[in-house]
Amino acid sequence: MGKLSIKDVPDSTFEGKRVFVRVDFNVPIKGGVIQDDTRIRAALPTIEYLRGRGARLILASHLGRPKGNRIPELSLEPVANHLSKLIKQEVKFAPDCTNAAPEIVSRLQNGEVVLLENLRFNPGEEANDESFARTLASLADVYVNDAFGTAHRAHASTYGMAQFFDLRLAGLLMAKEIEFLTKVRDNPDKPFVVILGGAKVKDKIGVISNLVDKADTFLIGGGMSYTFLKAAGKEIGNSLFDEKHFEKVKELLEKYSEKIKLPVDHYAVKEITAGAEKKYFEGGIERGWIGVDIGPKTIEAYKNAIKPEGMIFWNGPMGVFEIDDFAAGTVEIAKAVRDACKGGAKVIIGGGDTVSAIHKAGIKDEELTHVSTGGGATLEFLAGMELPGIKVLSDKNG
Ligand code: ADP
Ligand code: MG
Repeated sequence: MGKLSIKDVPDSTFEGKRVFVRVDFNVPIKGGVIQDDTRIRAALPTIEYLRGRGARLILASHLGRPKGNRIPELSLEPVANHLSKLIKQEVKFAPDCTNAAPEIVSRLQNGEVVLLENLRFNPGEEANDESFARTLASLADVYVNDAFGTAHRAHASTYGMAQFFDLRLAGLLMAKEIEFLTKVRDNPDKPFVVILGGAKVKDKIGVISNLVDKADTFLIGGGMSYTFLKAAGKEIGNSLFDEKHFEKVKELLEKYSEKIKLPVDHYAVKEITAGAEKKYFEGGIERGWIGVDIGPKTIEAYKNAIKPEGMIFWNGPMGVFEIDDFAAGTVEIAKAVRDACKGGAKVIIGGGDTVSAIHKAGIKDEELTHVSTGGGATLEFLAGMELPGIKVLSDKNG
């Protein structure tokens, strides 16, 4: 059963109505200057859609982790100014969500926009405090959530306030995330190849367990691969190892040894720093050495498994890609999925670091089928968990 989106309801739903839109404007800001406005631009389709239908828009987001305190560096005011330029119309700014907002909202005309100050300046946001949720809800007639990246959190703006609305709609970005990730999770095109890397087994084990029956091949790399390699009886030296999930990893590996592919060679260092001496290992890694990238034989094998057909999901870099010397494996895999997509595969990627890695490899989002904006939210969704921020939205047939 799908979730109702802003496109599924008549335009009259929005005309002259106060529409609250939870957006993700959690952008990097330095000295009042926005360093990367990707997330603001990503919200434009929803904003323009609603403005075009005469909505009075109330936008709200968190920024960073102020933990209930008013921290000037984490103010959303620069975002209001930036958004004004993008939509070529004044965006009003409410310096707080509770006292200043009602008055400003009451003066909004159709098609006008106000951005509320950082929701997390109020301790009630992350605590999902009922009275804060009520205050937010009292500002609007219709609730829209377009912030997929925080959908795994039951906060006042993503969860608590929604219950006070009859109509709880997915924004366009949210609807797109739900559509693609549901496809990946429930009926991926075949063959289905999952590429998983990154540092922690803990973050990924749910995804592996939930997708392993549907996937044809699992290509494992990055820091998490060493726990798997150890389970396969290899020496891993001083590489990352997750004792806590070792038994579960062993179990998965025994049951799905055909599908789960592990690196066959590596580059390792004694210390993870730029310029550190790199040593090549085939099979296991010697004591004292830390695996930081997959080797050429692994790259070759993984490239052969990444074909221009079916569906590919990738999360987690193949090595410590932030350091150029250890980025080759990740960059090669990024190029391989890009080429597979060009050749006809549907390629979905997710994870903050994976998206950075794609960009580092010079690949544009448009060259892939879908680039998920969620980190934790994407992984929880694919692990089969119900995300509070999605659960709370109105169902399509209900
Ligand atoms: P994403 O943000 O895409 O979900 P993760 O956060 O799971 O990805 O993983 C990215 C991190 O994993 C990066 O900081 C990277 O340096 C680290 N990493 C990858 N391979 C290794 C490795 N072999 N040893 C230590 N850290 C690694
Ligand atoms: Mg990360």
